[in-house]
Amino acid sequence: MDNDLKNRTLTELEKLVADFQGKKYLAKYIFSFIHAKDALAIDDITPVAKPFRQKLIDAGFHISRLNTVEKFTDPDGTVKYLFELQDRQRIESVLLTDDGPDKRRTLCISCQVGCRMGCDFCATGKLNFVRNLTAGEIADQLNVIAKDSGKINNVVYMGMGEPLDNYGNVIRSLEIINHHAGKFIGQRHITVSTCGMTDGIEALADEHIKPRLAVSLHAPTDELREKIMPLANKYPLDRLIESLKIYRKKTKKRVTFEYCLIKNLNDSALHAQKLIELIVSLNPGVNLIEYNRHPGCTFEPSSKNRILRFRDILMNASIETVIRYKRGQKINAACGQLGANLLTKKPPKMQNI
Ligand code: SF4
Repeated sequence: MDNDLKNRTLTELEKLVADFQGKKYLAKYIFSFIHAKDALAIDDITPVAKPFRQKLIDAGFHISRLNTVEKFTDPDGTVKYLFELQDRQRIESVLLTDDGPDKRRTLCISCQVGCRMGCDFCATGKLNFVRNLTAGEIADQLNVIAKDSGKINNVVYMGMGEPLDNYGNVIRSLEIINHHAGKFIGQRHITVSTCGMTDGIEALADEHIKPRLAVSLHAPTDELREKIMPLANKYPLDRLIESLKIYRKKTKKRVTFEYCLIKNLNDSALHAQKLIELIVSLNPGVNLIEYNRHPGCTFEPSSKNRILRFRDILMNASIETVIRYKRGQKINAACGQLGANLLTKKPPKMQNI
């Protein structure tokens, strides 16, 4: 493990403190100063005595920080953050505010630089995979944005990258953001979204932190899915459904499917019927997503009428279905658009605040 204290869970910090002959309670100070009080340097953790801080500094430990490069605000209130990492790689995170009375604030975070899954409809899938984010880089998206904009209620792992392809660091980051000495985001308020890595889904079911699970499905047959999601070759639908049954049984949590509606590709009444047959036994929720264009994309969004018809067919089969209308589209912050600016290298003209 590297020397960035931000990457460590409280348990890992306790072990580190013990290795330096420190008392166990010091680890909690270190953890809470990093994740609840935004300490930027070890010397900011003032409840820990100076000699002990110096021991950590002398051993090469430090606290990393994401560098906010730009912040974009869409007229609909969605805010996108562009961050630079210590090796100058860039990632994006999106803050969404609900229109409802409680003004729920949901943060969509990234877990990789690029993505190796290559989904056809997604801008991130067109970026080369560069590397996994560390647990600290994942958690710090929450720390930095909460400091800038106030309390965050929900965190969704739906930004750049496939969370279950960075399994260890994602699990560590879940422990960090969920811990009461840090940001304390409840398990019911955390969603991990996967494009269907069945081995990761089954492993996640056995973790002590049990987030909500969303599955990017986007097609009701293997044949169609393989056309738009290369990974579907490796994880066929019958195997995926089996792993979701296991997840549901072990966690008692309902699975949500994400289904992006693409004109004349996956949006017919027959596709809706096939989708029902595939998923109904899981008693899931479905989010229908309007397709969002990005540079180089070849698909078109379905019409409003076809989206409504698709929704109604699912609802008639008693599948709870919500249409996720476009949010943050003008700043390339909508579903499937993250990384679009990095793809073009020339960001469109945006409101930079
Ligand atoms: Fe990767 Fe998710 Fe985009 Fe697929 S949809 S390429 S898994 S970021």
